[in-house]
Amino acid sequence: MRIGVLALQGDFDAHRKRLEELGAEVVLVKKPEQLDEIDGLIIPGGESSTFLKLLGEAGFEKLKQFVRVKPTFGTCAGAILLATDVENPQQAGLGALDIVIRRNAYGRQVDSSIREGVFAGSPTEMVFIRAPKIERVGREVEVLATEGKDKDPVVVRQGKIMAATFHPELSDDTRVHRAFLDLVSNETQA
Ligand code: GLN
Repeated sequence: MRIGVLALQGDFDAHRKRLEELGAEVVLVKKPEQLDEIDGLIIPGGESSTFLKLLGEAGFEKLKQFVRVKPTFGTCAGAILLATDVENPQQAGLGALDIVIRRNAYGRQVDSSIREGVFAGSPTEMVFIRAPKIERVGREVEVLATEGKDKDPVVVRQGKIMAATFHPELSDDTRVHRAFLDLVSNETQA
């Protein structure tokens, strides 16, 4: 299985390491045409507005086509890019995941924190860094993990698209990446 990690900016290397640990072949995607070589893609954390600038119009369009057909997992800024609706401020999204997501939603005080949430029924460490919050999920969207007393959705899936508002690549727990690789292998066999 060849998994691309969008390597324009942000913490793509931690994803590379995690994917290799799990036995995937990794392609660091720096040019749009590399999208043609991979079975699935991770869009890492970073700064979503910077991603948009670096992608440019052509890169954005190519990525939009890709996420329509191939499994993609966005973490933090990557989740923001995949969304249909982005707030605070409004920003273009790839429209692959029917959610309303609010950037930098936790305010300065809890800018970054490690909290315990629940993924697939078990307690899971979650590293949040200037994290967005998923404020609404569409009917087709499945919630795979929640956090906090209000059970905010923090990992979601819609078809072959997955997103996390935290950074699973920064914890030792490999289950979130494993869930994405399972999704890719199911899609590739289908
Ligand atoms: N605050 C960033 C944004 O709005 C996301 C932060 C992250 O990816 N860790 O794009």
